[in-house]
Amino acid sequence: PLVLGIETSCDETGVGIVRGTDLLANAIASSMDEHARYGGVVPEVAARAHLEALGPTIREALAEASVSLDELDAVAVTSGPGLAGALMVGVGAAKALALSLGKPVYAVNHLVGHVGADLLDDAAPLETPTIALLVSGGHTSLLLVRDLVGDVEMLGETIDDAAGEAFDKVARLLGLPYPGGPEIDRAAEGGDPEAIRFPRGLTRPKDLERHRYDFSFSGLKTAVARWVEQRRAAGESVPVADVAASFREAVVDVLVGKALAACSDLGVPRLLLGGGVVANARLRRVAEERSAAAGVDLRIPPLPLCTDNGAMIAALGSKLIMAGYEPSGLDFGADSTLPVTDIRV
Ligand code: ATP
Ligand code: MG
Ligand code: FE
Repeated sequence: PLVLGIETSCDETGVGIVRGTDLLANAIASSMDEHARYGGVVPEVAARAHLEALGPTIREALAEASVSLDELDAVAVTSGPGLAGALMVGVGAAKALALSLGKPVYAVNHLVGHVGADLLDDAAPLETPTIALLVSGGHTSLLLVRDLVGDVEMLGETIDDAAGEAFDKVARLLGLPYPGGPEIDRAAEGGDPEAIRFPRGLTRPKDLERHRYDFSFSGLKTAVARWVEQRRAAGESVPVADVAASFREAVVDVLVGKALAACSDLGVPRLLLGGGVVANARLRRVAEERSAAAGVDLRIPPLPLCTDNGAMIAALGSKLIMAGYEPSGLDFGADSTLPVTDIRV
């Protein structure tokens, strides 16, 4: 089926078009620059930006795919989780489009969409069961995917900051611009990851009892802040490269460690990565090394499919249609806390 997918859960306005599992278009507009002076995504600003960008982005995707609206078989849209006001723009647009075209609409889960991105990868098709680690500015989740359209379970998630958010906050306290992830990544390449031993959140035996697959990055952020403050108070300069490398190492160590623990505990020899933090050079390297050592098949879709995008939403919609699922009707709404078990709405 030819499906157009709309994604507006955070700061990317994404419109993708797929035919079956073939990627035809992946148009994206981002309001990231507008959030830079606030150091993080501002919900109201994001919602307004979606409203302005959605029309042009839909037109851009149609042109890129060389298809017209009346050729579409269905529209798919992220209905949650995400920022309520931002989601509402996409949901409203998807319903209006579907209604005016007389086509069905599929409301889908954003997190499952990140996993669905793998369907569009040219490499071997997604095999299940698989563990999925989703890391971005808004989420840090470890999923057990038994069936992409039928059975997805949340094993754990962050109990405070998301991984990308931690990068952004630590960058800020080092005086690096937003978004901080790429800045820290770059600075870290020239530093020593073992210069400072920063804490690995929720990895002590006692924490593991209740939070085996959960993450925590706020303690790490505080530890970095305290370390930097002490240096400054002593009148010493801050070795930015070493702090960045040591911080990055702490984040990556926990992310990869917990993901591979899940693979081992559950006997699932497959790990899929998704989300914008997948751009992190050290995360990719460590995930590759440690997956290989553990006999785990690691899959990392191309970066434009890892960050928020409409193509992954279209792919999940297309997969639902091929699996014979009914469309959503028009009475669904945006659900900012939609659980991952609700793959579709
Ligand atoms: P969502 O949480 O809904 O997926 P988002 O817009 O918050 O959306 P993305 O756009 O997928 O997330 O990713 C942006 C985040 O990824 C930012 O926090 C950014 O700092 C981080 N990031 C980007 N590149 C890197 C990198 N090389 N290393 C670490 N973090 C990075
Ligand atoms: Mg983003
Ligand atoms: Fe996302």
